[in-house]
Amino acid sequence: MSDKTTGEPHEFQAEVSRILHLMVHSVYSEKEVFLRELISNASDACDKLRYLSLTNPDLIGEESAFRIHVSVDKDMRVIRVSDNGVGMSREELIDNLGTIAKSGTGQFLEQLSGDTAHDSQLIGQFGVGFYAAFMVADRVDVISRKAGEDAVSSWSSQGEGTFEVGEVDTADDLLDGRGTTITLHMRDGEDEFLDPFRLQGIIKTYSDHVAIPIYVEDVAAETSEEEEAKDNSPVNSANALWARSKSDITADQYKEFYHHVGHVFDDPSMTIHYKAEGRHEYSVLLFVPTERPMDLFDPQRQTRVKLYVKKVFITDDAHLLPGYLRFVRGIVDSEDMPLNISREMLQNNPIVTSIRNALTKRVLNELKKQSEKDADAFAKTWDTFGPVLKEGLYEDFERQETLLDIARFKTTQGDELRSLKDYVADMKENQTAIYYIQGDDPAAVARSPQLEGYQARGLEVLLLSDPVDAFWTANVPGYEGKPFKSVAQGAADLDLLPKEDKDDTDKDATPSDDSAIDAFIALLKTSLEGAVADVQRSDRLTDSPVCLVAGEGALNPYMERMLAASKGGETGDLLVTRTLEINPDHALIKALAAKAKDGVSEDLEDAAHLLLDQARIIEGESVVDTADFAARMVKVLSRSV
Ligand code: ADP
Repeated sequence: MSDKTTGEPHEFQAEVSRILHLMVHSVYSEKEVFLRELISNASDACDKLRYLSLTNPDLIGEESAFRIHVSVDKDMRVIRVSDNGVGMSREELIDNLGTIAKSGTGQFLEQLSGDTAHDSQLIGQFGVGFYAAFMVADRVDVISRKAGEDAVSSWSSQGEGTFEVGEVDTADDLLDGRGTTITLHMRDGEDEFLDPFRLQGIIKTYSDHVAIPIYVEDVAAETSEEEEAKDNSPVNSANALWARSKSDITADQYKEFYHHVGHVFDDPSMTIHYKAEGRHEYSVLLFVPTERPMDLFDPQRQTRVKLYVKKVFITDDAHLLPGYLRFVRGIVDSEDMPLNISREMLQNNPIVTSIRNALTKRVLNELKKQSEKDADAFAKTWDTFGPVLKEGLYEDFERQETLLDIARFKTTQGDELRSLKDYVADMKENQTAIYYIQGDDPAAVARSPQLEGYQARGLEVLLLSDPVDAFWTANVPGYEGKPFKSVAQGAADLDLLPKEDKDDTDKDATPSDDSAIDAFIALLKTSLEGAVADVQRSDRLTDSPVCLVAGEGALNPYMERMLAASKGGETGDLLVTRTLEINPDHALIKALAAKAKDGVSEDLEDAAHLLLDQARIIEGESVVDTADFAARMVKVLSRSV
């Protein structure tokens, strides 16, 4: 092949251009990861071809020893990475190396600030794959032949907005005439990588676990007398890491393997490695990440555990874990599934089902163990993945109890995360339910007026602010026989629970006038007709004058809001199902009630509407009629000055 590929020019997708710009100007301190990325892709390509060749042996012909060659030519300033894997067609070169399909890309790009140092750190978190080559090379040439096809295609780019695609008339530069060869023309200043020993070091550090043998070749040495002394053994151990015994594997090796299978760069917060023996035999190596993967809240909720059969990669789409454990990365290697199992056959395969059950149980047990043994570490895990794990509470009834054991909550009790076991153990005498309040802003939730009566009685309330909380609270009957009860819904039932003694000297201690309060309630009911379902005295308030409460059987207010939002409707329409509760001991209510005895007045009408509007605002809702709200507010203020 001629060194310079000429061909049809193409433009990179805008997202890719931005990533390439970032690569070219990167000050990312670990540039050597470019090699790990290229080797990872090469090893995936070999895995893919091995799988395809199970049903179509002709694809690999006689030459079946999968391998990866890294050659370095110091004089020409090039590094070549070749594999005899599945290869790419011309269209695939354009699609795979010209666009980026990875979910989370948009989010990643949004985080970029333009500040090189800051942005370079993000590279590590995102994992830029093939494009990492442009951190060290100012031109990258790719030639490739897709398995089973004749054409050899080329791709070339200097990483600046465009690439060229063409055809090559010889397969000489491909390993065994197939697969892919990537040639990096190294930038000035990146000479350290033109040293075969340095490359070997990088491979040992990052790619030792890769199950395909990797060879490093010094092209300059081959032309000299040193050729004799050439070492022809692979640089990596080239055996499947999961098949080794735990005692032979270092923490760093686990970490590198996690980076490889997960295509991520953080540290694993938990490593689960074991061999299952019994009805089915399989090895498991799973990792819980420290950081949220970019696609954690992707609506597809795809799980990412790779399935191997007897060390042959089959698919990463076998649904080996339920959706609520989609943050777990790793592999399962089955000893008893047939090697030629097709991806379609996997869908209802009883072995897959049995492995999924066992894996789910194991992962949850490990999480539970961590929650019991290392509260601090678990608090971090829960903080990161709790919102996803909670999906299991309504999706997986069989494991609901285990998940409730694992779950941790912010509560009114303090800053520490609390378990339900702690909660139940500390319940007050006569307390029959586990109380919670839920909304979308954690700070607002903690300040909700509905909490007042509970706090005055020393009753702990769970503070829920993840969107998923609306779903599980509606579906989970209870924990250890205690039902979950929203403090913002239905009757408060606080009669049997005495208030704790507090210094209330600054409170207006005169008892409220019952008949005046009744008159005021009647007035509110008339004024607010059609805006609330009812008006009642409250025993859940101590400091605030009013609050809104949902009906016992109604959807919780949060769900109502989401439903209204999803229908694009006015939230006000739905919220007529709620009751406005008033605090008869509050000075403002007492004063308004005293006036109400004399009959309806404009002042009282204004007060009624403003009280409802402010109750809505505290709930994080918007006022239904903002012009009316503003006009009444101005009137009231004018009267008071
Ligand atoms: P990722 O590996 O995370 O998908 P990359 O940008 O590294 O992202 O690669 C994009 C795609 O290009 C890969 O998913 C793969 O389909 C293809 N690819 C890259 N390198 C090779 C290779 N050596 N052989 C075959 N296909 C490759």
